[in-house]
Amino acid sequence: MKVVRDRASLREALAAVRREGRGIAIVPTMGALHDGHMSLVDLARGSQLPGQATSPFVVLTIFVNSIQFNNSADLNRYPRTLETDLARCEVSGVDLVFAPDHEEIYPWSKQVGGALTSVALGANDLSYQPSRITAGSASRGLCGATRPGHFDGVTTVVGILFQLIRPDIAVFGDKDFQQVRVIEQMVSDLHFGVEIVRAPIVREQDGLALSSRNVLLDAQGRYHALYIPQTLRHAAELVAGGERDVTKLLSIVRDNLERTGGLRVDYVEIVSPETLEPASGTLESAAQLVVAAFAGEVRLIDNIRLEPARRA
Ligand code: AMP
Repeated sequence: MKVVRDRASLREALAAVRREGRGIAIVPTMGALHDGHMSLVDLARGSQLPGQATSPFVVLTIFVNSIQFNNSADLNRYPRTLETDLARCEVSGVDLVFAPDHEEIYPWSKQVGGALTSVALGANDLSYQPSRITAGSASRGLCGATRPGHFDGVTTVVGILFQLIRPDIAVFGDKDFQQVRVIEQMVSDLHFGVEIVRAPIVREQDGLALSSRNVLLDAQGRYHALYIPQTLRHAAELVAGGERDVTKLLSIVRDNLERTGGLRVDYVEIVSPETLEPASGTLESAAQLVVAAFAGEVRLIDNIRLEPARRA
């Protein structure tokens, strides 16, 4: 496995892969790798590209993208575990890890003296405004509404990674349900020509969705966090059992989450899995229940598919 930290070495390594005619798959991450990330690697490795006899060359990127953080405390405490991440990648069959510094991805930040902790594009300098990719309508509600600028930071960095790596496929997790839709829209609107592969959510045995932020939870926070998957599952069971009233379902979910006082709800919504438009009235077809909540200072997100029971 190769580990590269700069664009020049990346270009060189990938040129050799292309000369062999091999396809390239990427798994973009912010590091602090867990089994959820590694399931994306498995999907990347196992994917069959058209006209390719061999599996794709798998590039995993590790980059804590400061411009997608709308809160500098969240950025500063984001876990960074490069050494163990590299060990995990090695055993998981990653071919190349790209772990660039901030300035490799955002050379303008050097030019304007932007610090690693800058949380908004070009915020440190009024005269220089770096180019960015504005996320489309899929970014409007949910995390887009409560984390201003977040998805523009995501589309900008993913666009840059696509430019630097020029992958055939890119794997993203459904854990970040809105993020995948935002990226799918970007790829389609801007003709990136990258196939987006979606990976199901990987959970702890007790149901908590794996997340790099879980290590920041104290015992109480971890206990309360469990209410999120339990509540989501309960709602999915209610819907499978015949409940279709969106307002009623939302109020049950919110009540369950807030009952113990250990979680502060950021949003609870039932949305179309495709457009992410909020559902209302009566559920007639599959929908996605999406939740963001704070356990202490740690913001957690999760989601589940709601499949209404067939009417008799
Ligand atoms: P992150 O490092 O949090 O930016 O996540 C990198 C990628 O891993 C994103 O595509 C996430 O959706 C995906 N991911 C994170 N947690 C999980 C999980 N529990 N199951 C599946 N995919 C995940």
